[in-house]
Amino acid sequence: MLKLKSFVFSPIQENTYLLYNEFKDCMIIDPGCYFPEEMDELKAFITQSGLTPRMLLNTHCHLDHVFGNKFIAETYRLTLQLHEKEKMLLDYAPTSGLMYNMPFDNYAGKFIFLKEGDSIKLGEDELLVIEAPGHSPGHICFYCAKQNFMISGDVLFNRSIGRTDLPGGSHQTLLNNIREKIFVLPDETIVYSGHGPETTVGEEKKFNPFLNGLA
Ligand SMILES: [Zn+2]
Ligand SMILES: [Zn+2]
Repeated sequence: MLKLKSFVFSPIQENTYLLYNEFKDCMIIDPGCYFPEEMDELKAFITQSGLTPRMLLNTHCHLDHVFGNKFIAETYRLTLQLHEKEKMLLDYAPTSGLMYNMPFDNYAGKFIFLKEGDSIKLGEDELLVIEAPGHSPGHICFYCAKQNFMISGDVLFNRSIGRTDLPGGSHQTLLNNIREKIFVLPDETIVYSGHGPETTVGEEKKFNPFLNGLA
């Protein structure tokens, strides 16, 4: 059984997720901690909860989702897991950080590349990798069928969808992926997004203004 803890980090207000099980093993998804006090907050939760970080995952590599990669990887000796098509974005993230006036040190370790259908196991719990590009070229979501939730990154938000005006973005691809990969999941699936409050697949099918007529 996975428990979820979320944090909102950086001026970009990105949701960082920590999933952990009853054995106190955990995975960290999109550590967007930028300021030292945000890194301290994340680390303090891990320490105080007695958790052992086992995995570091990125849904995609826009700067707001990767600020804390290096800190987490070095603190807990983890190898970053992401889709291969996001590597380009990761390489570019510090440049984009300078443009946003948010310089940062990039992750510089090895990679484990994930693809559609991969299973990520933490003890007895399992997340399925769903490829859903459109917001970015190698964007993936993590779906937990047993507990009916997904970490959707910047694909789908509460009443909104990811922007598609950044390099490698495609509006039509994003809409198709939401319809074909996410809206086929059970309506009660809870969607934990990269920004803003959680929602469910059923609610977004009904109320998401960007997907009217597509559900
Ligand atoms: Zn993004
Ligand atoms: Zn984002």
